[in-house]
Amino acid sequence: MTSQDYIKKEDKFGAHNYHPLPVVLEKGEGIFVWDVEGKKYYDFLSAYSAVNQGHCHPHIIGAMIEQAKKLTLTSRAFYNNVLGDFEEYATKYFGYDKLLPMNTGAEADETALKLCRKWAYDVKGIEANKAKIIVCEGNFHGRTITIVSMSTDPDAKAGFGPYTPGFVVIPYNDLDALAKELEDPNVAGFLVEPIQGEAGVYVPEDGFLKKAFEMCKAKNVLFIADEVQTGIARTGKLLACDHEGVRPDVLILGKAISGGVMPVSAVLADDDIMLVIKPGEHGSTFGGNPVAAKVAMAALEVVKEENLAERAEKLGIIFRKEMSAIKSEMVETVRGKGLLNAIVIRPKDGKTAMDVCLKMAENGLLAKPTHDHIIRFAPPLVITEEQLYEAIEIIEKSIKSF
Ligand code: PLP
Repeated sequence: MTSQDYIKKEDKFGAHNYHPLPVVLEKGEGIFVWDVEGKKYYDFLSAYSAVNQGHCHPHIIGAMIEQAKKLTLTSRAFYNNVLGDFEEYATKYFGYDKLLPMNTGAEADETALKLCRKWAYDVKGIEANKAKIIVCEGNFHGRTITIVSMSTDPDAKAGFGPYTPGFVVIPYNDLDALAKELEDPNVAGFLVEPIQGEAGVYVPEDGFLKKAFEMCKAKNVLFIADEVQTGIARTGKLLACDHEGVRPDVLILGKAISGGVMPVSAVLADDDIMLVIKPGEHGSTFGGNPVAAKVAMAALEVVKEENLAERAEKLGIIFRKEMSAIKSEMVETVRGKGLLNAIVIRPKDGKTAMDVCLKMAENGLLAKPTHDHIIRFAPPLVITEEQLYEAIEIIEKSIKSF
């Protein structure tokens, strides 16, 4: 079967809830993927920053296979002999008392929201059903009903009402707006992405996270960081919050916590917060399964052993410098941190970010537009400097071809 055959089949039998680039991939290794015709590409999306450790990392795949042969799922009706190891490993790794395992990023966000509401009633003393959580314009936390209720993106939200109440939206990177909303004693939490990835890699001003954290503390409000996309070395530190020395009260992780091998997500918090959730109040059949637990430990080991945060920091500086030096009127803005970067594309002769992505694919590099005019560049963090320069050449050649 050719790529076109596979595309037609998906179009016929699959729901039309995505608009992929017309490439059909069948193999991945490190920073490369191959399509069914055997063409090789640099992967500059990394499954939205899930594959930070590179495709099919042997240490992670090895851990998965070994565990899959022994025991894959018990549900949480019983204990398994791996979950405790993962919980110990990850809580020490990130510096929290407790971890709650889930599967997808959206589930972890939902978990954090429930945790925050329960804490509001049991600990902060907010009257039942009155708790509010502040979120930011342009946020992306997933696709569930409650999460789209917090969204300001019409594509994600319109047509899915009625919406879950209890959220207050402020502009991103706006401390005055935050201060105003924090005056409300029913506010229990502030949920924020340290960099807004899906919105187009919006990096807040230096000091925003730190100040926002301090303001939340002053009002006994939980600072909840969604690091599903920014976490696990992507931005040049283990967590994007580390750039400002902020330790969130509630930390949400997903994607790269499994190296993109299977859906694993987690919420971390200290006992005073995490223990408000009691047996029966939250969970998931697959959350904390032994394969996921082994995979996540292996994925986190790779991040440390291969110094991925340092690598992302160093290579990110090169990437932004080289992108900013491209002489083309299509390059409007270059921004990002570590290896989470974006170029804002100014359309030229009717050619848009999508056309640039199609041209890059033709030239052997995959990336995807977000919001029509922005291209996100997020290669696996195992990329070498030499490979990065090769990829930069492809990007530059593609942009300049218009
Ligand atoms: N939170 C953030 C910041 C994300 O970027 C995403 C996905 O892109 C999610 C949550 C949702 O994760 P998932 O697609 O695994 O549900």
